[in-house]
Amino acid sequence: MSRLEENIRKVTPYVPGEQPQNKVIKLNTNENPYPPSPEVDRVLGEVDSGDFRLYPDPSCSILVKALADCYGVGEDQIFVGVGSDDVLAMCFLTFFNSGKPILFPDITYSFYKVWAQLYSIPYECPKLNEEFRIVKEDYYRENGGVIFPNPNAPTAVYEELDFIEDILEHNRDVVVIVDEAYIDFAGRSAIELIERYDNLVVTQTFSKARSMAGMRIGYAISNPKLIRYLNDVKYSFNSYTLNKVALVCGEAAVKDQEYFENTVKKITDTREKTKKELADLGFSFTDSKANFIFASHPEYDAKEMFDAMKEQGIYVRHWDSERISQYLRITIGTEEEMQKLFEFLKKYMQK
Ligand code: PMP
Repeated sequence: MSRLEENIRKVTPYVPGEQPQNKVIKLNTNENPYPPSPEVDRVLGEVDSGDFRLYPDPSCSILVKALADCYGVGEDQIFVGVGSDDVLAMCFLTFFNSGKPILFPDITYSFYKVWAQLYSIPYECPKLNEEFRIVKEDYYRENGGVIFPNPNAPTAVYEELDFIEDILEHNRDVVVIVDEAYIDFAGRSAIELIERYDNLVVTQTFSKARSMAGMRIGYAISNPKLIRYLNDVKYSFNSYTLNKVALVCGEAAVKDQEYFENTVKKITDTREKTKKELADLGFSFTDSKANFIFASHPEYDAKEMFDAMKEQGIYVRHWDSERISQYLRITIGTEEEMQKLFEFLKKYMQK
């Protein structure tokens, strides 16, 4: 290795799902198949480019206020960032600083490992059990912090709040981050536990249920003290984060609760239908509570199916990694998109 090379930080990079820009059936990165609230269009029409001359509000106050009203928490309990990836990166930097290994599941959102490597945070990864569930007792040992998504990704499994509480209770001295990117499709949010657990940080995103992945908005909710620490770190990196367009669009989307609820219902209805149809074709899958299904078929090779789908312009997700290489992760699209997927699968299985 050259002297130059020695001085460069090296990580195993995160590999995002493909983002084909032509017209395909895109069921590979858990986006929402429906547009954002029409209120977002309305405020976009009112954007004045002359206003871009000035910096945006570093405290993102219009969006913070809308989120605080929506979740019934104080404005000092909310931290916003450029997608929840940005929020989570700030959380790793801020809260996982003890030098002790942090814990996250073996099979989870693969960015956690990247951030840990990037920020030189030691980590240990307890394995999910046979049913792809987190074993909570694995998180009772001494550690430097805990993070997991609920529902987990890519397994789609949701754990109830008493399960989360057990983990919080056994980790009073470290920060526990519950990444709720998919919570709106699942059940009760851990936000209601924040008052009782001063070690809890919940993160959420506008990329899924609110249909704004391209706008890049995420947020954390916690007690005022932990939020203050996050802001101290954020302001040291990039004091402005969200741009003016994202701020007004985000505010408009949060205020349109009815549209949000209708969209979530459409997606969860399609998910339940999709489960039935997949079962009829002989697939097995976890009990998904997210906007995607983690499925495998006993008779067909997942990678071959993935390749054949892609050739027909249907994009789903597949990983080469050993334990899940027989699984496909299929995002819930519109009813029409799912019907096209099933037309393909039926033909594929007749061959
Ligand atoms: N957490 C999990 C579990 C995810 O799957 C994703 C999306 N890939 C994110 C966080 C990040 O989402 P975003 O940055 O779009 O908010």
